[in-house]
Parts: sequence; structure tokens; C-alpha cells
Amino acid sequence: MVSRTPDWRIDAGTGSAGGEPGTAVRLRDGVATVRRARGQVLLVSENGTPPLRVSGIGEELLPLLAEGTTLEALTEYLRARYPAARDIEPKLPAFLTKLRSVGLLSEGASQRHRGARGDAHIPLPNPDPLARQLALLLRHLPADAARVALVLALAATLAGIVGVFLETPRPHPFDLVLAFSPAGLAILLLMVLPFHEFGHAVACRMAGAPVVGAGVTLYRYVVPKLYVNNTAVYRVAGRGPRVWIALAGPLVNVLVAGAAAWVAVATGDGWVEEAARYVVAGCLVTLVLGISPLAASDGSHALEALLDDDLARGAALFRGRSHLSIQPVIYAYRLVCALYLLAFCVGSGALVAGSLSRF
Ligand SMILES: [Zn+2]
Repeated sequence: MVSRTPDWRIDAGTGSAGGEPGTAVRLRDGVATVRRARGQVLLVSENGTPPLRVSGIGEELLPLLAEGTTLEALTEYLRARYPAARDIEPKLPAFLTKLRSVGLLSEGASQRHRGARGDAHIPLPNPDPLARQLALLLRHLPADAARVALVLALAATLAGIVGVFLETPRPHPFDLVLAFSPAGLAILLLMVLPFHEFGHAVACRMAGAPVVGAGVTLYRYVVPKLYVNNTAVYRVAGRGPRVWIALAGPLVNVLVAGAAAWVAVATGDGWVEEAARYVVAGCLVTLVLGISPLAASDGSHALEALLDDDLARGAALFRGRSHLSIQPVIYAYRLVCALYLLAFCVGSGALVAGSLSRF
């Protein structure tokens, strides 16, 4: 149940100001939450600061703060969750000031899907209006028809990809990756990546959450990475929609790989076939890497949504993180990681062995 007004209790008096607009806020690495027997939640830090007790709304904001967010995103989250509350504006910055004053917040932090600390962000037009229109259209489709269409599309994708590998002379998977195609690379960067992100945006809108923004992150000020800001996904209560939001991007990769495979099969030798094959390989490689539960990825976000624990990856893979996660969730996450690693090693080994056998 959502109470009508947020409970801002914190273990000591709140500060008076803080949280400049646009400032990224994130819990420092090494900050962990500990739940006491009677339900109190403590924030404890490896840097020796005294434990800080939070409750109510502060506790509710911890997953967002652990991932990294902004004052605006937190405000929007609270407004959606507590529409009757009138004290969000003064109390949220005060709450953040308190966390900052005891050294629990890191400055200039990153946000989910927004790259790492020290990155530069170039804003792009928000795809939200377009995603909203497409989501409205898709919502009008009968659910059964949509499922059948998806199954048929996946079957056609699989048939197309198998078709590429059955062509004569039979290509080795490495050939597809190594046969560089400038046109294929351009399609991957200029079409597949934006469509991947747009897939997340449409799924977000279908779940009833707006896309907050979009842009390009320059990782370490050099490597560009496109993103949509789907921070508002936290307002989606259902696990299923949250899983779909995370998987919508990889699903786009799969479907584009299928379409490109059919183009490769249908066209003869030439630059079009080379480009299409390169797109197939690029989509599949980015798919495999993008669903890894070991990194902060679409796969880890989907698994965390499935397990209903936004901090499951940190709790499963890093010591001293996310003490709120329960053991079954941690074990389930580790099991999926082990299965992914096993499949990755078996697949990679088979590819290398197949490649060596040709010489
Ligand atoms: Zn994605």
C-alpha cells in the first residue's frame, strides 16, 4: 500500500539545503544497508562514518540512490508515488544534504543506462512523444494476436539466421564478424543502436512510465554510447512489465538480425550481402554481451526485475553490498551467472575449435 504522505524520518535532524538541480547523486561504493530485527534500516559505510538510520521514504529511495540518479528524477518519482504530498521540495534536498554531510553520497555520480562517473553527456531530443504514440497503437492490438505475431517473427528470425549459415560456401561465424563492412557498421551505429534504445522507450511507455530523456554518453569523454533515461521504470510496480522494458532492446537486436539475415539470403554476392551479414553478426555479438548478468546490462536489469530486487547484482557479485537482499535471491542470481558463463565458455570454445579445425 502507498501511504498518502511520505515519511521522511532519518536518525538525526535533517539539513537545511542541498541537491542543486541536475546534480547526480549516488550512494558511495561500500555503503551498505543493514536491516535490524525490528525493521530499522541502517546505512553503514566502510569509511567509518557512524551508521545512519533511515526509514519510510528514505528507505524507499535507497535503490534509486544506489544506482545513481538526480534530484529531478527523485522528485518526479515521489510526486508520482505521493501525489498528495506537499513537502517533497523542501525535504528531499534536506534528506540528500544529510546523506552528503555524513559522507554517504558520491558527487558527480552516474545513472542507470547513463554511463560511468566522469562521462560527458550530450542531450538528444526525448523520444517519449513518439514512444507514447507507438505504445498506444500497440496497446490496441489484441493480446493473442500480438503474441502470435511475436512468435512468428522470432521463428522467421531463427529461419533467416540458420539460412545464412547454410549458404554455400558455408560461412564460419568468425567470417561474419571479421568480414568488415563499412555499410554494415554504419547501419549498426545509426539504425540498430537507436532502434534498440527506442525499443526500451516504447516498452517503458507501454508499462505506463514516461521516458525522462535521451542522449549520448561519452565514456571517459571518448567512447560514445546512446541511452534513453528510463529512470521512471521504478514507478512500474509489476515485475513482468519491468522485465519487458529491459528485454525490449535485446528483442530489437534479435528481430533486426533476422531481417538482415533474410536480406543476406535473398541477395547474391555483393556489398549488400556483406553489409547484411555484418549486421547479423553485430546484432548477435551485442546481444550476447548485452544480456550478461555479470555486468550492469539489459540482462542484469531484467534478472533484477524478475527477482524483484534492484540491488540483486551487487548483492550477488560484490562483498559488502546490498545487505537487504535475501539469500534465495542472491543464490538465484549467482546460478544464472554461472549458467551464462557456462554457455558463454561452451559457445566460445566451440567457435574457436571449429575455427582451428579449418586449418
Ligand atoms: Zn539496452
